[in-house]
Amino acid sequence: MRAKQILNELTAYKPGKPMEEVRKEFGLDRIVKLASNENPYGFSAKVKEALPTFADEQEIYPDGYGTALKEKLAKRFNVGLDQLVLGAGSDEIIMMLCRTFLAPGLNTVMAHPSFSQYPHHALIEGAEVRAIETKNGFHDLPAMLEAIDEKTGIVWLCTPNNPTGNHIAKADFENFLRQVPKEVLVVADEAYVDFLETDDYFDTLAALSDYPNLITLRTFSKAYGLAALRVGYGIGHPEVIHKINVVRSPFNNTTIAQKAAIVALDDQEFIKDSIAKNNQVKHSFLAFCDAHQIKYYESHTNFVLIYDLPVSGDAVFQHMLSKGFIIRSGDALGIPNSVRITIGNEQDMTEFTVLLDQFLTSVKES
Ligand SMILES: *Cc1c(COP(=O)(O)O)cnc(C)c1O
Repeated sequence: MRAKQILNELTAYKPGKPMEEVRKEFGLDRIVKLASNENPYGFSAKVKEALPTFADEQEIYPDGYGTALKEKLAKRFNVGLDQLVLGAGSDEIIMMLCRTFLAPGLNTVMAHPSFSQYPHHALIEGAEVRAIETKNGFHDLPAMLEAIDEKTGIVWLCTPNNPTGNHIAKADFENFLRQVPKEVLVVADEAYVDFLETDDYFDTLAALSDYPNLITLRTFSKAYGLAALRVGYGIGHPEVIHKINVVRSPFNNTTIAQKAAIVALDDQEFIKDSIAKNNQVKHSFLAFCDAHQIKYYESHTNFVLIYDLPVSGDAVFQHMLSKGFIIRSGDALGIPNSVRITIGNEQDMTEFTVLLDQFLTSVKES
């Protein structure tokens, strides 16, 4: 059959190991998943309470415009309804952006390592991927600018960046944006924006009026803890949004997901609380790393990438897996001896650090 050639070179996304499988394999009672940057504090109790009331009308297609949710978002961010597009997670918006703006003969510029879905969908569209190595985990913006040419369709800025955790400073972002040709779409993927611990951050939403070639992506999957519902959104210029809507599938957000997201937006207390807890536990973990000379990238997210470990990331992953902790090996990212750890709750992280310390000590002694 005549499937796209490129598909022979790509693999399907490998989600973190299913918890039940790990539990059985190692005969464990309990599994802690620190692999996908989910919220260890769950999701808003208000959403949980409201969910059963969304049970009706499942035989009816959802609102394909997502009007009620878009109205809520429009008010919150002071933008027009025509500046918003919804996706089944921001993953789907990334796919739609590639479908909209990339094709054979065009290229796309991104950092490496960064979010794996950018190159994945770009390659499927037949575009050339220009991945620019990060410096200490930071986007190398001057090098990224240099990589842009008249065939560039999209440049991706993941800030804070997954998997390194660093953010792009305000002036750096602004300088970059000013120099990008107006024909190139700049995507600011802000999946972790809620976790920022600094004011030195470029307000992409405020810049939309000056930069019609800018689009901001956000998600309900991380701080909001609604990864299972699959809701993400993009905020950009109406013309960009219009084009994305042409490729968007007609009913890409379920009725339940749309309604739940609206309730979630009203419970900012939950978000504040989750972030405060995350940051506190994160700093305890970083203090542990400092005390044990474990290197890490500065993180403005709910995960930390530790590197230069005395063993491969795969070895750390395997060991922690056998103890019931699922993390991500960074080996595939090209960062030597690294793992990415989602910050769990205090108790789980305390247990995790003890096990990690024991493992690294045993490795050094052998
Ligand atoms: C998690 C993540 C997303 C996608 O999340 P969805 O669940 O698809 O909304 C997008 N970008 C980055 C950088 C992420 O880490």
